[in-house]
Amino acid sequence: MTTPPTTPRAPGGLSEELFARARRVIPSGVNSPVRAFGSVGGTPPFIASAEGAVLRDVDGREYVDLVGSWGPMILGHANPGVVAAVREAAGRGLSFGAPQAGEVSLAEEIIGRMRPVEAVRLVNSGTEATMSALRLARAATGRDVVVKFAGCYHGHVDALLAEAGSGVATFAMPGSAGVTEATAKDTVVLPYGDRDAVRALFAERGGEIAAIITESAPANMGVVTPPAGESAEAGVGFNAFLAATAHDAGALLITDEVLTGFRASREGYYGIDGPAAGDADGWAPDLMTFGKVIGGGLPVGAFGGRADVMALLAPAGPVYQAGTLSGNPLATAAGLATFAQLDDGAYAAIDRSSVALQQLVADALAAAGVPHVVQTAGTLFSVFFRDEPVLTYEDAKAQDTAAFARFFHSMLDQGVYLPPSAYEAWFLSTAHDAGTLDRIASALPAAARAAAQG
Ligand code: PLP
Repeated sequence: MTTPPTTPRAPGGLSEELFARARRVIPSGVNSPVRAFGSVGGTPPFIASAEGAVLRDVDGREYVDLVGSWGPMILGHANPGVVAAVREAAGRGLSFGAPQAGEVSLAEEIIGRMRPVEAVRLVNSGTEATMSALRLARAATGRDVVVKFAGCYHGHVDALLAEAGSGVATFAMPGSAGVTEATAKDTVVLPYGDRDAVRALFAERGGEIAAIITESAPANMGVVTPPAGESAEAGVGFNAFLAATAHDAGALLITDEVLTGFRASREGYYGIDGPAAGDADGWAPDLMTFGKVIGGGLPVGAFGGRADVMALLAPAGPVYQAGTLSGNPLATAAGLATFAQLDDGAYAAIDRSSVALQQLVADALAAAGVPHVVQTAGTLFSVFFRDEPVLTYEDAKAQDTAAFARFFHSMLDQGVYLPPSAYEAWFLSTAHDAGTLDRIASALPAAARAAAQG
């Protein structure tokens, strides 16, 4: 690793040239909106290679990476075990369009770790996973309406884009053009964490509701810890409350663990707020969705849950769902090689780095007098540029995004690559060691001072 640069990125490099070329042929120059740096300004570095916790751009600059491809790179980049597994799989053929053993092993791995999952199907992205889970829930219940929460992002599924997090939040969009009124009318959006709103909706329309879908811990409006029980329901967390409310009305609960799954803890956020192991009477979602970590950096998603519900999928059942590349041998090899290294020690290491980094950021922002709050969901965390806790999407939107942009650019100039949005989690990996944390620590004071100069 060379020493990270401490001077601002100079204009006129290869990244600028590539970005100009890209904008001529790709809308906004990117294949996923947040990559365009639209809310923080400037030119995104084009990445040439990555190793461990470090990204290297086409101009030869290095960055400590806190994006991790938005979650999948939990072992860091170019992890030798994962790369070897993909190389070996590639030598045996890239895609068969027929069953292969890796699919079975990856399904077994997911089921072995995630208690509510009795059967699982692999797809190619988190978006496909939530889209398929929604169709399945509607078929299982014979109902149309789906309930989601403001600030939660479930991929770019038409029915789930209203008041979504991630890029939709970053660019302050209410939803997306091109979603028909007919589709939108079957989606009800409620404020996150608002039990009274959930109760009122179910009292009025319970018989129409197919499913509630929620991020098991919201992480696409920044990280919001699901609220614990109210006094009358002490001990009943928000997700358990949603499960009980849905089930009382004959609806399903879908928990979206695309981001938190196998990252917030070994068993995702369910491992944190689900019932204790061995408690057969505890709450469980009916369906869960996964992505990111399970593909180790290659395109994979999955949805799974109750065996009786999953049995409705074609060809045995009436719910059609398919994919030319689903269960692709390279993707399953990458996922399996990732899981092979994700033992308790790996999660403990990520947790230690996460706690240490949270403290470093909080200290630097406090020293510069910048209002901030750090919120967590297991090993995941994010930093909001406001001083009140963030419980809802409205709270998240009330942060100082201009201060974040100044902070972001100072960090980038000093060789630290943060998510280019105030609404995203910061992603760590097992490759973030004391050395990488030191490099981040040395960049933080100047970035905090930049944030303070509003
Ligand atoms: N659900 C959640 C919670 C996500 O965070 C994401 C992506 O960030 C998705 C679904 C969509 O996944 P993908 O981008 O793989 O389609």
